[in-house]
Amino acid sequence: MREISVIGSGVIGLSSARCLQEAGFAVRILTREMPLETTSVAAGAMWSASDLEGRSRVWAAASLRYFLPLTQQRGSGVTLQRMREVYTEAVPDPWYRDLLPAFARVPALDLPAGLVDGYLMDVPVIAPPIYLQVLQDLFLAAGGVIEERSVDSLDEVAAEADLLVNCSGVGARRLADDPAVYPMRGQTLLIDAPEIALGYMDNERVDHIFLRADGVLIGGVKLDGDWRRELDPAISADIIRRTSAIESGIAEAKVRREFAGLRPGRAHARLELEQRPSGNAVIHNYGHGSVGYTLSWGCAEEVTVLALNVLSGES
Ligand SMILES: Cc1cc2nc3c(=O)[nH]c(=O)nc-3n(C[C@H](O)[C@H](O)[C@H](O)COP(=O)(O)OP(=O)(O)OC[C@H]3O[C@@H](n4cnc5c(N)ncnc54)[C@H](O)[C@@H]3O)c2cc1C
Repeated sequence: MREISVIGSGVIGLSSARCLQEAGFAVRILTREMPLETTSVAAGAMWSASDLEGRSRVWAAASLRYFLPLTQQRGSGVTLQRMREVYTEAVPDPWYRDLLPAFARVPALDLPAGLVDGYLMDVPVIAPPIYLQVLQDLFLAAGGVIEERSVDSLDEVAAEADLLVNCSGVGARRLADDPAVYPMRGQTLLIDAPEIALGYMDNERVDHIFLRADGVLIGGVKLDGDWRRELDPAISADIIRRTSAIESGIAEAKVRREFAGLRPGRAHARLELEQRPSGNAVIHNYGHGSVGYTLSWGCAEEVTVLALNVLSGES
């Protein structure tokens, strides 16, 4: 059986690893942090495709096809939720409108002050602590191996398997020597607020209220160039203040957990095969920014097609 090493165990690494396994490869993950310690655990995480163009739309549509059936599977961590996505100016219908089970416009009277347009739609929302655990369990049950280890050079580990897949998130800045990668720091809180019936997302102000399988997730911030992984209490207080203005019950809600994470910023995700001067082949899959969950399964499928092509070309 052909062996593939995957660097990283965030949503991008785990999804790639699972998809490669399903195609019949033996997969080993090399990772500095385990799945529930990565940036991916800090995410919202809504299937969120309004800002996407080009290849990203293909990946998002493929991920949606994968997530929708999971919303019917108890314990998957993926649920179908009604969301309001709001805007300060009029917006056209989104490209994905007909792919969703339900889509409408937010009635003007229901828009908070200062907002003039919005979508009301049913979309998959992922609870990362549950979903990543499920992916990890499936990966291990199928014979996958996870090695907790920091990688210093792609070439150093590429020689250990038939193929290397690089899903190192913001770590790719150093590992792939790619200055286009930068951190977009985020912070979120998981609260108990069962009375909230409708999710909310304002991407301009970064105000998020996501109803999830494990509670209500509120956020957030997008701080470009900020590498801090520790929580900032002033930011948490500000998130509670801002989201309470949308759902007043949030001010009194019990906070169960707080998260901080570094979205892997890049103008476009990098998903391509690199033939390195050393002779090693590496498939890069990193730089998914604010939409890693949205792109995850589509990218994993493309990684798998690339891997099949590379390895079938060898005798
Ligand atoms: C607050 C917040 C809200 C978000 N909301 C959404 C949302 O609603 N919808 C959505 O689609 N996306 C959302 N995202 C974005 C999404 O979370 C990211 O795009 C995604 O988590 C990136 O996944 P990743 O696997 O590439 O990176 P990570 O989760 O950072 O994983 C990188 C992995 O690589 C490993 N690694 C790095 N360098 C090395 C090395 N040298 N050696 C060994 N291992 C290494 C790390 O240990 C880790 O395991 C959000 C993110 C944040 C922070």
